[in-house]
Amino acid sequence: MNISDLTLPDLPYDYSALEPVISQKIMTLHHDKHHAGYLAKLQDGVKGSDVASMSLEDAFAKLSSLDSAVAKAVQNNGGGFYNHSLFWKVLTPNYKEPSVALMEKLNESFQSFEEFKKQFTAAAMGVFGSGWAWVIKDNSGALKITSTANQDNPLMENAAVKGTPVLGLDVWEHAYYIDYENRRNEYVENIFKIINWEQVETNIG
Ligand code: MN
Repeated sequence: MNISDLTLPDLPYDYSALEPVISQKIMTLHHDKHHAGYLAKLQDGVKGSDVASMSLEDAFAKLSSLDSAVAKAVQNNGGGFYNHSLFWKVLTPNYKEPSVALMEKLNESFQSFEEFKKQFTAAAMGVFGSGWAWVIKDNSGALKITSTANQDNPLMENAAVKGTPVLGLDVWEHAYYIDYENRRNEYVENIFKIINWEQVETNIG
């Protein structure tokens, strides 16, 4: 879809549905203010350029060839739009364990579920300042854990580790501070209670 045609996706559940892990207050601000803001600033930033008729994914892949102001809009606000659109979908109020097939895939990639959890938590805790922890599928089909700063993501040309995000975790303070204050570790621990593994498996394809 063209960047100019993107619209803000609704949350796939009520604003209060992820309580007590994430409060209604955070979800409301996070979706209605932050996510909506990224989309508005993205579309404003690309207006009048040929990037408006590109897909976000194509624009991410060729950031360095774009006009610098447009590239900034795509990287910061396009990243913010894409990342949050994924984030809402990989959370759920109706938690189910990963399927047998997904568990095998996780074991194959990370040795065990516990080891996966340990590495993903380390990635989330290791983000200095604002950013995201990711599980990606790389070109070879392997699952990898990585992290990015700010609203960057692994589809971007500048990403150190590239691939398709299948699970993303927002560790900006706006994602948890109202509920957890400075305790990012508690937020990350609790996120494991609301991961939508069915969606993650769909994202892996
Ligand atoms: Mn956020």
